[in-house]
Amino acid sequence: MISLRQLFLLNNAQTSSTPRLLEIERAEGIYLFGPSGKAYMDLVSGFAVSNVGHCHPAVVKAVKDQAERYMHVAVYGEYVQSPQVLYAEKLISVLPAALNSVYFVNSGAEATEGALKLAKRFTGRSKIVSCYQAYHGSTHGALSVMGNEYYKQAYRPLLPNVHFIHFNESADLDLIDHDTACVIVESIQGEAGVRVPENAYMQALRKRCDETGALLIMDEIQTGFGRTGKLFAFEHFGIHPDILLLAKGIGGGMPIGAFIASREIMDCLKDNPILGHITTFGGHPVSCAAGLATLNTILEENMVAEVGKKEALFRTLLSKPPIREVRGMGLMLCIQIDTFAQVEAVSKKCLEEGIIVDWFLHCDTALRIAPPLTITEPEIREACRIITETVAAIV
Ligand code: PLP
Repeated sequence: MISLRQLFLLNNAQTSSTPRLLEIERAEGIYLFGPSGKAYMDLVSGFAVSNVGHCHPAVVKAVKDQAERYMHVAVYGEYVQSPQVLYAEKLISVLPAALNSVYFVNSGAEATEGALKLAKRFTGRSKIVSCYQAYHGSTHGALSVMGNEYYKQAYRPLLPNVHFIHFNESADLDLIDHDTACVIVESIQGEAGVRVPENAYMQALRKRCDETGALLIMDEIQTGFGRTGKLFAFEHFGIHPDILLLAKGIGGGMPIGAFIASREIMDCLKDNPILGHITTFGGHPVSCAAGLATLNTILEENMVAEVGKKEALFRTLLSKPPIREVRGMGLMLCIQIDTFAQVEAVSKKCLEEGIIVDWFLHCDTALRIAPPLTITEPEIREACRIITETVAAIV
């Protein structure tokens, strides 16, 4: 009989010729389970999604309850759907006062698209500034602001008038001028291999945007919801964006994204033309119900408070040769080794040992370590033991 794995390779579109091929039966907390019952500790959180752990009971309950009430009823923006209303209200309550209008979409890439369009509409300008090594999604607009030519070259022409600056280099900020509609930047660059900017840089970036009238779009799609030790990473830098991008972790495992701005900015999408951004499934009621349960859980269980302590333990246990560096902030960490071949060998061996780690799009010599925020001290110790033993045997 043909196996599920063979069917996957046969019928499902592939994104590389070397997929991990890990077959998942179920997931709970920080673990994924294979068909034989083997447990895998998920140290990447399904790529920065499962901050509250897989299948958190509060999220599962919210999904079930909402699915029984109603699922899709209309395109986004027409009907009053309580999960969208209540989730927007909750998000606004934890954000700076200026970020008071939430547009729910389906994904991170769609949040990027919506924000770029909004910035062009609000400013009447077309120049977009992004950063080398940035990742904001894989659709055409998002690809246009990606800071890595390798992934873009085959898809040109992309959006015109996109210019790149080096992340965390104040000298480049002069490229932001009075023609600039927006600067799009990750609060911490994720796919670049977890690059944390300096406070002074982020403040200078904010100042330059204010001076020129360019909107500052901060992408918190990976950093959002507690991962860095604050609910949002921009809080570390004492600034806030004009447009905030969220996705991944904000659905607790359900697909959802959002771009959030002031009412004044967001109102541009309302007319001339009307329907400035259209999405059928954006803000799906089941995803919004899951998202609200996720945020409530993070706050009620005080998950963010423990992140710093857990980061410190990871750093202590992982900071030993041949690991060259432990980088990042909170539970958005990585370990730097030397070559992609070593990264692949370590990932493969760790998987055999029941630990999931992975590499980064723009940095294939480092391994990402971004577990659910719920990981416990004994689990951190066990994970680090396996990782350090594996790295020592391979590097
Ligand atoms: N922005 C950042 C910083 C991301 O890490 C990602 C996904 O990895 C995206 C945007 C795109 O999100 P999505 O895959 O939901 O389109």
